[in-house]
Amino acid sequence: MATNITFTMLKPDAVENNYIGAILQKINEAGFRVKAMKYTRLSTETAGQFYAVHAARPFYNDLVSYMSSGPIVAVILEKENAVADFRDLIGATDPAKAAPGTIRALFAKSIEANAVHGSDSDENAAIEGSFFFSALEQF
Ligand code: UDP
Ligand code: MG
Repeated sequence: MATNITFTMLKPDAVENNYIGAILQKINEAGFRVKAMKYTRLSTETAGQFYAVHAARPFYNDLVSYMSSGPIVAVILEKENAVADFRDLIGATDPAKAAPGTIRALFAKSIEANAVHGSDSDENAAIEGSFFFSALEQF
């Protein structure tokens, strides 16, 4: 059964381009509520841990260095059917292929610097949320 929680990061390109407010507004307008939020920065080590599932992929080293290149905003979100609805809201990984009006179509620069992360399953949403927040920080 689907839970009502997903996890997102506003990535370094989104923060650098001053899109935090605009992206959070899109997320709220789509019906998501913020349950936890943190402005922080990943080290190469913590970025490597977060993306460990992609360690064998050719883009892994670049991704880790990009994700630790500047501050990010980590957010736990709540909505019915959160994981699937959030993936629809952000659009395809490659912004050139993302549907018009999606967050990546509107705000992303490239397939790597693609503005936002979105969990791909309920299980990973829980794992990724706990990567940044303790249970006591989730409201
Ligand atoms: N990525 C990349 N090159 C690729 C595919 C992915 O740099 O060819 C980066 C991109 O930032 C993406 C992240 O790796 O968001 C994780 O990849 P995934 O396939 O999980 O895409 P997502 O779930 O974020 O759409
Ligand atoms: Mg993914």
